[in-house]
Amino acid sequence: MTRAAPHVTHEVLNQVPPLADYDVADDPALTEALQREGADGGDGDRELHELGERAGSAATQELARLANEHPPVLRTHDSRGNRIDEVEFHPAWHELMAVAVGHGMHAAPWRDRSPGGHVARAARFYVWTQAEAGHGCPISMTYASVPALRHAPGLADRFEPLLGSCSYDPGLRVPDGKAGLLAGMAMTEKQGGSDVRANTTKAVPAGDGYQLTGHKWFCSAPMCDLFLVLAQAPEGLSCFLLPRVLPDGTRNAMRIQRLKDKLGNRSNASSEVEYDAAFAWPVGEPGRGVATIIEMVSATRLDCVIGSAAAIRLGCVTAVHYAGIRRSFGTTLAAHPLMAAVLADLALESEAATTVAMRLAGAADRASRGDAAEAALLRLALPAAKYWVCKRAPMVTAEALECLGGNGYVEESGMPRLYRDAPLNSVWEGSGNVTALDVLRALTRSPGSADTLLAEIDLAAGADRRLDAAAERLRCALKEAWAADGDGAQYGARRLAGLITLTLQASLLVRHAPAAVADAFCGSRLGSELSVGPGGPFGTLPDGLDLDPVLGRAAVSVRG
Ligand SMILES: Cc1cc2nc3c(=O)[nH]c(=O)nc-3n(C[C@H](O)[C@H](O)[C@H](O)COP(=O)(O)OP(=O)(O)OC[C@H]3O[C@@H](n4cnc5c(N)ncnc54)[C@H](O)[C@@H]3O)c2cc1C
Repeated sequence: MTRAAPHVTHEVLNQVPPLADYDVADDPALTEALQREGADGGDGDRELHELGERAGSAATQELARLANEHPPVLRTHDSRGNRIDEVEFHPAWHELMAVAVGHGMHAAPWRDRSPGGHVARAARFYVWTQAEAGHGCPISMTYASVPALRHAPGLADRFEPLLGSCSYDPGLRVPDGKAGLLAGMAMTEKQGGSDVRANTTKAVPAGDGYQLTGHKWFCSAPMCDLFLVLAQAPEGLSCFLLPRVLPDGTRNAMRIQRLKDKLGNRSNASSEVEYDAAFAWPVGEPGRGVATIIEMVSATRLDCVIGSAAAIRLGCVTAVHYAGIRRSFGTTLAAHPLMAAVLADLALESEAATTVAMRLAGAADRASRGDAAEAALLRLALPAAKYWVCKRAPMVTAEALECLGGNGYVEESGMPRLYRDAPLNSVWEGSGNVTALDVLRALTRSPGSADTLLAEIDLAAGADRRLDAAAERLRCALKEAWAADGDGAQYGARRLAGLITLTLQASLLVRHAPAAVADAFCGSRLGSELSVGPGGPFGTLPDGLDLDPVLGRAAVSVRG
């Protein structure tokens, strides 16, 4: 008679297979938005689904795990004591980077310039960042560097073709000789990140450029080839392009002091650097550094919205997948009414985040082609959405994690990494308060932006009374913010940014999403006296909603 080994006491039952080997681009809110926002179908669609399959594959999930469990290491010196300032990454990081660059997420729309290019790129970024978020940082910064670099046409002619190249070519060498380049940005100093005008790094004219002396307290992806840097020139705060390796092949005097030990984003290196008369070329008009680099900041803010929408979607589909299989009290978790309410609430958040992110990507695309109305909409709606969607991501990931019970709290589920990464998009590129305050700045500096936003929201006028009421509240709130004194307006800036985003999301869903989704979103987000949507945890939806269609859009099929 065969007997089980004495230590084997049980069978493994009721554990859910990991969500792997699925198409991340199997996402109706994304694919429907792509068509609306003008990304071409055909080959672009095929490529997106191929990328989605790759992003959702078990093999890519393993790369993501390795890249995060083996974070980058700083090598300041070689074996003979020479300064080298190299950052060493696990091969998994390089594989992830090669895919992102190979698919043009770092710059393709600047290269081929076809209408819808920025939308198609946004979709790829949204899909691939669900594989691993950390390496999105240098990808996003490279994408965003191009509009700022164009303020120096000579430098743009020289480097833009290499920034747009689909070859990933890591390693510190003379930029002009490489197959492809990556760019970072260095603004934040010890004494202030939000208040960059307090920068103390000095720029002194030297030869055909400047010498920079000072420090940066945060400089992510320091292995990039080029950096857009803010420093105080004789004319005032100015923008510069600083190469890691000089044209003669020597290392520029940018010393990496140490890498940050971060909550999340662990695959990515974020450093503290010192410039010791480091060489840099001027970009844009001297003294107008903020105005020059703001174009880079705007593009990275869009990626923060897209990245947070991606994290929200990933948390949501993971929770829906798990709850559809795991059983408790005789049925699946998803079949319990209260769990269905939680999952549907997460799914609504995801639909709204993806829809507004893609609408803004469409606005960025059209604005880059000279559409003034879309530029005005973007000017106001982008900081508002950057504030709101990035703030929602940590809440969604925390709730999604809990849908997996104790398993969600354990690293192997992938949820702790998602949760740790989630707050970051709100912190960088303008922390929550700073982006909310930027909404006020947009109202005063871009006076047409409020009317453009309201006109966009009014495209759904009359279709839902709750939306009509919210639009009216927003109209009043915008007028009040316009009329308020400085302190009064600032005090209410978060409320206003939230109301703008929720009302825009509701309008987009009423126009474009299935009726059940729009109804549940308006019922749960606009009905409240709070006027900025739900303040409490997820899962408190009103009665009488049709949740099946909502949940159906958050279910993905796993290859057998
Ligand atoms: C992982 C990581 C990577 C980063 N990478 C880079 C990089 O590559 N390059 C780079 O330049 N920077 C980078 N940063 C820095 C980031 O952009 C700054 O941390 C951010 O801009 C905030 O600046 P600060 O840390 O100096 O905070 P502070 O400016 O001191 O702000 C602290 C808090 O006060 C709030 N606040 C500030 N002013 C006001 C106000 N007027 N009213 C109300 N509230 C206000 C802010 O919203 C924030 O919540 C990175 C940060 C992190 C965490």
